[in-house]
Amino acid sequence: MTSALVIGGGPAGAEVARLLAARGREVLLLERDAAPQDRVCGEFLSREAVLYLRSAGVDLQALGAVPIDTVRVIARDVIAEVALPFEASSLSRRVLDEASLSNAAAQGVRVERGAHVTSLVRTATGHRVELAGGRAVHADAVFVATGKHELRGHKRGAGLQNDLVAFKLHYVLSNENARAIERCVELTLFPGGYAGLQPIERGRANLCLLVRRAHFARCGHQFPALLEAIAEASPHFASRLQGASPCWRKPLAMTSLPYGYVRGHATDDAFWLGDQGAVIPSFSGDGMSIALHSARLAADTFRAGETPETFQRLLSRDVRAQVRLATLLSRALVQTGTQRLLMEFARFFPARETSEFFPARETSKFFPARETSKFFPARETSEFFPARETSEFFPARETSEFFPARETSEFFPARETSEFFPARETSKLLPRLVKAIATHTRVADAALERTGLLDIRA
Ligand SMILES: Cc1cc2nc3c(=O)[nH]c(=O)nc-3n(C[C@H](O)[C@H](O)[C@H](O)COP(=O)(O)OP(=O)(O)OC[C@H]3O[C@@H](n4cnc5c(N)ncnc54)[C@H](O)[C@@H]3O)c2cc1C
Repeated sequence: MTSALVIGGGPAGAEVARLLAARGREVLLLERDAAPQDRVCGEFLSREAVLYLRSAGVDLQALGAVPIDTVRVIARDVIAEVALPFEASSLSRRVLDEASLSNAAAQGVRVERGAHVTSLVRTATGHRVELAGGRAVHADAVFVATGKHELRGHKRGAGLQNDLVAFKLHYVLSNENARAIERCVELTLFPGGYAGLQPIERGRANLCLLVRRAHFARCGHQFPALLEAIAEASPHFASRLQGASPCWRKPLAMTSLPYGYVRGHATDDAFWLGDQGAVIPSFSGDGMSIALHSARLAADTFRAGETPETFQRLLSRDVRAQVRLATLLSRALVQTGTQRLLMEFARFFPARETSEFFPARETSKFFPARETSKFFPARETSEFFPARETSEFFPARETSEFFPARETSEFFPARETSEFFPARETSKLLPRLVKAIATHTRVADAALERTGLLDIRA
């Protein structure tokens, strides 16, 4: 009889196994894949994920992870660039998962590869787990971390958004494009979905995209046709992939993701971790941090002698609100109407450097340089005599082509805006919006405090 059995060797399984072994348990981890694999994932590591991995002894820098500190949102001809409110990281799952499994093994976990679990049954004395090939293992405690895959007879609920198809493909970009996405995640919105492109180790880039099933059907269920449709909708996306070489012949794909799912109860008296406990939409980049958090919480709860039911309740309390909010946003992000609204908003509040799409003279259709507009009722406006007293809300002084606006207002703090002095930080609203979303979808401090992560942060 094994003391603790972990099923699945992704972020959640590897970490709970490592922690249990570090606390003196005999642990067996069964991983279906016999060799390192690529996984459908954006490969964005949020700050919490980075901290959890660091505390687990995974040296991301040594593995080649690249820093990420900027998000660029693109829809058609609008590009809004926002600094992330924290520094994140990016590393392929093939490298990360292997490093985490080696780390667990070094801590004393017995890792079995090519061990495909086919059933889990509660018995009078513990659990009986069957593997493909007919072998059975008995264990006192079982931790299920099979991620996106379900164990037979243990289907999760459908979640709140489940009509998306996910694809992932690594590329070697042209030198120019590789430079352009340094330290940056580019999120392209296109009809029916969104695509994330970010640099990973060894000079590669990861393209991970989600599209509604109906839109994919309109592309004849063909990935190349889908890429063409996205390129047509977004010239920026098209130019990014110009001269890029895919690293594999075909992308990895996945369907029926139950975004918004949060497990209410611990069925069969097992601990259900990671994506088996809660599934947050991908754009948030918080799936792995939730998986790692659930591993900590499960190990702590188990050590305290609490039941799996208590663990499941605690996990649900820690992540339910974030998962719900992210799912609402994810549903909105794939609706054409909401995409348009969002990008009008971004156009209205261009963040940081104006860019070719926000040229100095006409920073946007709402901010024409010479004539003000109904939103900016400047009285004396001329090319040489700048507007004064524009309005109560937009008190631009000295506004003209040659005398750039200074101190416009709290909300429009454009400084030095003119053909010669391109605007920087034209607004603080978009960065604030991104910060608010990032703050409300991440695992909250109160939860991190319980697992001791805040001490590590300090
Ligand atoms: C399109 C997409 C993009 C994403 N992007 C990001 C992102 O950028 N950042 C982020 O943090 N999160 C992202 N996520 C979420 C993230 O991938 C998951 O939340 C995370 O991988 C969950 O970890 P896990 O350990 O629970 O499961 P997984 O990572 O899925 O690992 C499960 C493991 O269990 C093994 N397994 C499965 N079935 C069996 C079985 N029967 N027997 C034995 N072993 C088994 C598998 O081989 C695998 O190794 C994304 C998800 C998707 C779908």
